[in-house]
Amino acid sequence: MKKTIALVEDEPDIVELLEIHLSRGGFQVKSFTSGKSFLDYLKKNTPDVLILDLMLPDIDGLEICKQVRALNSTAEVAIIMLTAKSEEVDKILGLELGADDYVTKPFSPKELVARVKAVLRRHAPRQATRTIEIKGGLVIDLEKYTVTLKNERIDLTPTEFKILELLASKKGWVFSREKILDYLWGDEKAVIDRTVDVHIRHLREKLGPASGCVKNLRGVGYRLEE
Ligand code: CA
Repeated sequence: MKKTIALVEDEPDIVELLEIHLSRGGFQVKSFTSGKSFLDYLKKNTPDVLILDLMLPDIDGLEICKQVRALNSTAEVAIIMLTAKSEEVDKILGLELGADDYVTKPFSPKELVARVKAVLRRHAPRQATRTIEIKGGLVIDLEKYTVTLKNERIDLTPTEFKILELLASKKGWVFSREKILDYLWGDEKAVIDRTVDVHIRHLREKLGPASGCVKNLRGVGYRLEE
């Protein structure tokens, strides 16, 4: 079955371009030029991926992101945000709204399609029941996609989870930023290196007393200590 991509964007040229490329990429596309029409659609539908423009004429893209995450039916939907300025990315990341990826305009439609495929891969259901235990009572459940610290759930964004999962897959190994970006976005990565640092900073903040297990090796990368 085709995956459904909801596209919320008020610039007709971008909508047209993305509709063509996403359809060619094998996706079903539902386009909305206003936040309100999209939120109406959301009452009865759950897309697989949401591509969301930050600047919309009626409702702020950040507000829509918040509402999507707040709804039970759509809390897990992968969200890719479109921003006009790269400076906005840090701001959005700082708000921790749980978007999975960010693309700055102008972007190549091919790249965006690749990003859509990447977030879908990351959201794909997992087969084996597996948990990884890290010192200090930190447990990653790879099936339920949850992280707990002494049985208390820690809410991570999908990207933060993915980074922690990667580091935990080989405890003690050093992963370069490049490697982490590769794992997150695959061949089509175009994200700036410091995006990884920002995600890791948030991840550490959330891990609280267990944050010491994520070590930064200056100029080299990151590793998870046993
Ligand atoms: Ca716009």
